[in-house]
Amino acid sequence: MAAKKPKEVERCPQCDRPVVEGDLQACIICRSLFCQECAVFDYGRQFCTLRCRGFFFYGDGDETEKDF
Ligand SMILES: [Zn+2]
Ligand SMILES: [Zn+2]
Repeated sequence: MAAKKPKEVERCPQCDRPVVEGDLQACIICRSLFCQECAVFDYGRQFCTLRCRGFFFYGDGDETEKDF
């Protein structure tokens, strides 16, 4: 009996969707994994969330107010 092995799947930590192994990407900002469904494309990169996209653009916690 040649039982077919099911394809290895992982779960996306963001949406909990089962995804094919290797389809998860690590966010360049927070290093958390995300699937293509969760990916936020911007600035020619992919981020796990809009929040991380914002961090990439505005910087992390070092906001300079230029309202003066
Ligand atoms: Zn992230
Ligand atoms: Zn996802």
